[in-house]
Amino acid sequence: MHKKLSVIEDVIEKVKIKDAGQPEFLQAVEEVLTTLEPTVNKHPEFVKAKIYERIVIPDRAILFRVPWVDDAGEVQVNRGFRIEFNNAIGPYKGGLRFHPSVNLGILKFLGFEQIFKNALTTLPMGGGKGGSDFDPKGKSDDEVMRFCQAFMSELFRHIGPDRDVPAGDIGVGGREIGYLYGYYKKIVNEHTGVLTGKGLEYGGSLIRPEATGYGTVYFAAEMLATRKQDFNGKRVTVSGSGNVSQYAIEKVNELGGKVITASDSNGTIVDEAGIDSKKLEYLLDLKNNRRGRIKEYADKYNTKYYEGKSPWDVVRDEGIKIDIALPCATQNELDVTHAEGLVKAGCYCVSEGANMPSDLSAIKVYQENNFLYGPAKAANAGGVAVSGLEMSQNSMRLMWSREEVDAKLLGIMKSIHKTCLDTAESYGRNGDYLTGANIGGFIKVANAMLDYGIV
Ligand code: NDP
Repeated sequence: MHKKLSVIEDVIEKVKIKDAGQPEFLQAVEEVLTTLEPTVNKHPEFVKAKIYERIVIPDRAILFRVPWVDDAGEVQVNRGFRIEFNNAIGPYKGGLRFHPSVNLGILKFLGFEQIFKNALTTLPMGGGKGGSDFDPKGKSDDEVMRFCQAFMSELFRHIGPDRDVPAGDIGVGGREIGYLYGYYKKIVNEHTGVLTGKGLEYGGSLIRPEATGYGTVYFAAEMLATRKQDFNGKRVTVSGSGNVSQYAIEKVNELGGKVITASDSNGTIVDEAGIDSKKLEYLLDLKNNRRGRIKEYADKYNTKYYEGKSPWDVVRDEGIKIDIALPCATQNELDVTHAEGLVKAGCYCVSEGANMPSDLSAIKVYQENNFLYGPAKAANAGGVAVSGLEMSQNSMRLMWSREEVDAKLLGIMKSIHKTCLDTAESYGRNGDYLTGANIGGFIKVANAMLDYGIV
């Protein structure tokens, strides 16, 4: 006889069958839904209204063709996507990713996570995500521009300041947002807050570029404070060297910590002296202006470089001592072997700047070893939070100062931290930030969905 599945197990089983071939989406659904188990008994009204079944299906998933012409005159064709996952508490909001690995399943995982992250910020934003399998690496500025224009020539009909407001993500930074927004403005003939991460001259917010990295470090600092600790004198590993990593490094330096690693998809540098502000300036120029590889940092500063290895491979294999880990590159960077490597290295705090950088087996190791573990949807919510503030500033037609936005960001990260802790405690899971973040975000969205009836 078959064991009767719980409501949650039943939904996960259905996703496994219906969304087979989307492993990242299934992983995100399992991670979120298993922690929602205690809400089932407390909220029979959610079960009756089939909220758990409904929340794993996007409102809509838009898939389109993006043809463009490269510098050699050859026609190129990419796939474009926008997943409008859930707008129960506000317009869809979430980044655009341009990376060759992009597919429907990866964007569904990101859009699904975004629902709960956005709810945690306390701002009125629904969950969405989009992008393309276009690879900006190695392309000329003109090619990137032509691609962005072709992408926007379809996306424009699905977005709007009260409907869906995309932002940047991997492969989509200031340059891409400029091209995307410029084309939107031309074809719609409106200057509105339809994208965030815009340049300061045309509606962007101060602190938006810094927000995700700063927020991840603020969240870690809040977690450390619960054990009466701080960043001062701590050894920190950061992965990646893009937008999130750069500003995470800057904030760690400000708080007195020492960042000893950075990476890109080719390899990892280990700088025992620390990536100080001068070296960070070099890194920003290398990555944002010259679009070079991290190995050049090792050549310039004569540090160690590990080709083909991530910082987590290096920590595991080289026995480097660290206190705090900030994964800021991409999904599934850390598996069980990496997490065990962190334990051996003396690490006790992980704050996730990237989305879903730790797989389920790594999270289990953090939990078994009583880590301070800040899951992505809480720890990296600072980026979308300041995007929300950019939307507010656009609607009000004004611009807040750097200090004002940074203070609001810090306030939001503290509030998310408190929501996680309070929610975890009320469900008998003291100090479990993962459960706290998932339930904290879910309850708000579920209650809104309930109020709307069956739609
Ligand atoms: P960027 O494109 O600016 O930087 C990404 C960095 O990660 C680069 O160093 C890149 O190396 C590396 N990387 C990307 N993919 C891989 C891979 N498959 N293997 C190894 N290294 C990889 O992106 P962001 O900094 O904006 O985003 C990083 C993470 O943070 C993502 O998970 C994103 O979803 C998340 N995030 C970003 C937010 C934002 O505001 N930007 C908000 C919240 C979360 P290379 O250049 O060689 O590809």
